[in-house]
Amino acid sequence: MDAVALTKTLLQFDTINPPGRERDCAHHAGAMLQEWGYKVEYHEYADRRTSVIAQGGGNDEKKPLCLTGHLDVVSLGTRKWAHDPFSGETAGDKLYGRGSSDMKAGVAAILIAARSMANKLSGTPGVVIVLTAAEEGGCIGSKKLAETQLLGKAGAIIVGEPTSNYPFVGHKGSIKFNASFRGVSAHGSMPHLGENAVYKAARAVAKLEGFDFKARKHPIMGEPTLNVGTFEGGSGVNLVPDLAKIGVDIRTVPGVDHKKIISRLKTLMGKADVEVFSDLPPVWTAPDDEWMQRVFEICKPVLGRKPKARTATYMTDAANLLKVYAGAPTVVLGPGEAQMAHQTDEYCSMERIGEAVAIYEALIDDWTTKSN
Ligand SMILES: [Zn+2]
Repeated sequence: MDAVALTKTLLQFDTINPPGRERDCAHHAGAMLQEWGYKVEYHEYADRRTSVIAQGGGNDEKKPLCLTGHLDVVSLGTRKWAHDPFSGETAGDKLYGRGSSDMKAGVAAILIAARSMANKLSGTPGVVIVLTAAEEGGCIGSKKLAETQLLGKAGAIIVGEPTSNYPFVGHKGSIKFNASFRGVSAHGSMPHLGENAVYKAARAVAKLEGFDFKARKHPIMGEPTLNVGTFEGGSGVNLVPDLAKIGVDIRTVPGVDHKKIISRLKTLMGKADVEVFSDLPPVWTAPDDEWMQRVFEICKPVLGRKPKARTATYMTDAANLLKVYAGAPTVVLGPGEAQMAHQTDEYCSMERIGEAVAIYEALIDDWTTKSN
């Protein structure tokens, strides 16, 4: 079985999140890894929300190389698909399906590279393959996994998210929170008897629009951003609303202190119940890092030019994995098409899947046979 055929197989597992149900897909991948000689463990943070951790090789001199991808995919959306999202239809070089680009092609490429390198890992630093549940919508699977001992060690990380095989040196961090503003209800004809929660929320939103991060612009990632994504309040036009809620999405760059930002925002918004439901740091490896330069060299013949330092626009599991693999240089590099992620009629290029296998094999070989 090659990586294209394996991508088709993985597409047939319905891992749409929510609800997720990654277990069958995880066990399918885990069984293969086990057959190829890897030591496989599973982690379930909730029923059927299964992640896989597989170790191959390993020695005391150098930490293994981590290759990671997520097993869940996003919902099909409301628009009708012209191609079946689960059967792996192809047309020309395109392989269609929900999760083809984001990121079952990446997972398949990781698995096929793991297979071809399996019998070369004994006595070397080796590899650790981490396939996660519940990446979409908050990286919950990797967050829970990072709280266990199962991840072991890793000295560098490859995240197989869709980049058209272009190596990205990191991505922004994120803070997401809801804030609730309380008031006192009264009849709409006598607003002076109440306290209007919508006014409180509106004043807070106006302040958020002008929020100054006081952050230095990052040379590659640029500025941090803030977006008020939701606003709700009130239960009837003839009532003074006693509750209003907003949802805020912040994207940060290296150098921004999340704790300080949250505390400044709380002060700015005034009296509100703030619930931070996602808090993930940015991921960044200096482009002149020695290993990143090796990655650039290995990608160069495939891309036809030496890569430049660029970062991904989306979040990845690396933000959580780095809590355990602290300081590991991290590249986001995978065969999917980034602009296809979460789209109707999502597809990936089959040629790129093959290229990704070759790149991953070369990176594993480089990591496990070079002395430093
Ligand atoms: Zn993804």
